[in-house]
Amino acid sequence: MRGEPAFARSCSGNFASASVFLVALSRSRCVGGPLVLLLALVSTMAHADADFQRDLERAKALNVGASVADTREILDALAPRLDQASPEQHGEYVILRARNLVLSGNGDEAARLLDALLEDPPTPAIAIRAHSLAANIAMIGRRWERAFELLAKGLALEPDFGDPAGVTDLLSVAAYIHAQAGQPQRAIEYARRSIALAERSGLSRSRCVALHRAAYAFKRAGEYASAEDHYRRAVAECVRVGDPVLKATAQSGLADLLRREGRLDDADALFSVAIAGLEASGYALGLAEARFFESQLRFAQGRYAEAERNLLDVLPRLSEQAHLDYLAEGQEMLAKIAIRLGRSAEAAERLAEALATRERHLDRERAMHLAFLGVEFDLQLKEQELALLREQARVAGLEREAQRQQLHQQILIGVLAVLVAMGLALLLVQARRERRRLVAQARQDGLTGLDNHTWFFERTGRDLADAARMGRPLTLVLADIDHFKQVNDQHGHPAGDAVLRRVSRELVAAFGDRAHLGRVGGEEFAIAFLGVSADETVVLLQRFRRRLEEARPGPDGSVLTMSYGLASRRPGVTVDMLRARADDALYRAKRGGRDRLVVADDPLAEAPVT
Ligand code: GH3
Ligand code: MG
Ligand code: MG
Repeated sequence: MRGEPAFARSCSGNFASASVFLVALSRSRCVGGPLVLLLALVSTMAHADADFQRDLERAKALNVGASVADTREILDALAPRLDQASPEQHGEYVILRARNLVLSGNGDEAARLLDALLEDPPTPAIAIRAHSLAANIAMIGRRWERAFELLAKGLALEPDFGDPAGVTDLLSVAAYIHAQAGQPQRAIEYARRSIALAERSGLSRSRCVALHRAAYAFKRAGEYASAEDHYRRAVAECVRVGDPVLKATAQSGLADLLRREGRLDDADALFSVAIAGLEASGYALGLAEARFFESQLRFAQGRYAEAERNLLDVLPRLSEQAHLDYLAEGQEMLAKIAIRLGRSAEAAERLAEALATRERHLDRERAMHLAFLGVEFDLQLKEQELALLREQARVAGLEREAQRQQLHQQILIGVLAVLVAMGLALLLVQARRERRRLVAQARQDGLTGLDNHTWFFERTGRDLADAARMGRPLTLVLADIDHFKQVNDQHGHPAGDAVLRRVSRELVAAFGDRAHLGRVGGEEFAIAFLGVSADETVVLLQRFRRRLEEARPGPDGSVLTMSYGLASRRPGVTVDMLRARADDALYRAKRGGRDRLVVADDPLAEAPVT
């Protein structure tokens, strides 16, 4: 039934589809009492859940734009309702809470929350975000081993994962951690990947973070021009996305850079802005760091008393966060100030403190470096595996492409072959038609359409052979128009042509279906009767003479007569012999006075047969 999957989804915590579920149930045929009750319950749960989601979204938005305290208020308000949350919502809440805690200076509590979440993250998206944030927090707390371990685990999730925001942030954290670990070039590489992915995916906030991380990496690498450029771009982007914490942190980083470059006035102005921003946002550690940087500026400006006041205020906080590097540097600075202000006993004390701190810091650095080397080895292996996988995918892609192109080529060749074959077939058909036309033309008399001389006697020769084989009669008639010359002379050649065509039409009408006809001379026609004896032919011709008389084919409808010579097949005669005999008979008909029919070999034929 349609309601089942929607119900399953709703119960697993996603109540966004509650309305779909209601519609699905109301349409189903099996809605009964218990179901209605269940429906009411689910509907209430869905309502509560939607409220929770709405407040969570608000907290997420505030997490970017508002102060740490405001966000904490919302998160506190949500806490009692956590039992209504789905695992995914719970995960999102923990990440928000952890970020808020670390911004308020409670990194340890944040790390504990994230560790619990990482034991069983509800979704890959949450897993990657939790790894990223936990690694970041471990790094802030200078717990190097943990930071690298979390980073390596997070990066191992990256290839299976399609959430660009999570991956971008993880790469940014990787950049930060490597910069901190004294590997600025690796850091720059990660930051560049992060910036590129953020830009490709249109993620402004991730871009603000990535630019900031890149700037820090460049600063650590001593590439100050690139660092400044990236800090300025980071500030612009963080302002654009409205994240006051990130904006102020980037400004503080940039101010520190300007101080290192000796641009003290610019640094001074920017520190004021950054510190005001950090105070407003409530990011405790960021503020402590900025004020530590500011002390360095004051020292460089020769404003020793201010520098000292600042340091005494801020160093305890940095030492709480185990920032031994800052602490040692601060203590050294206090020693130098004491010397400048003529308090040499105190200076010696500060220096001894600084040396001890430096020693502890170096121990930690060594531990960090070992951690880095261990994880770096794994990461490099992983990178190589990934590169191999990418290469394999690329090769497979190329192979697929090649196969596709091959298929296209084969189809193209096939189509071309068919087209060529069709073209050739067409040409062949045309050539055959043309040949038939030429052959027909070559066999025809152009004026009358009857067989011409050559073809008529060739055909008659074959008929003669057939007739001989079958023992059948064949009679050849030669018919010549009487006094045709006079027609031409009196009426002109075209009129003569018309007469020839009319006579040939009469012949076709009379004999076309039982004999074949030819025009074998100017006004001389030939008729071959296959299977017709001489006597039968005589009868047929007599009938034709009457027909011609009636047809009056002469110019102006005048009567025209013809003379006929007739010869029948005898055993052993060739077509030439038959023709000679018919010709002889025709000659005799002419000589006998025309308008008559003479049968060859007939001694009585001197007289016209009428
Ligand atoms: P006879 O009764 O003895 O056959 O006399 P005749 O005038 O018919 O014969 P003759 O052989 O003296 O003349 C044949 C004429 O036929 C001569 C020629 O100009 C004409 N002739 C031949 N072929 C054609 C043709 O294709 N068209 C026309 N109009 N006249 C042709
Ligand atoms: Mg004639
Ligand atoms: Mg003639």
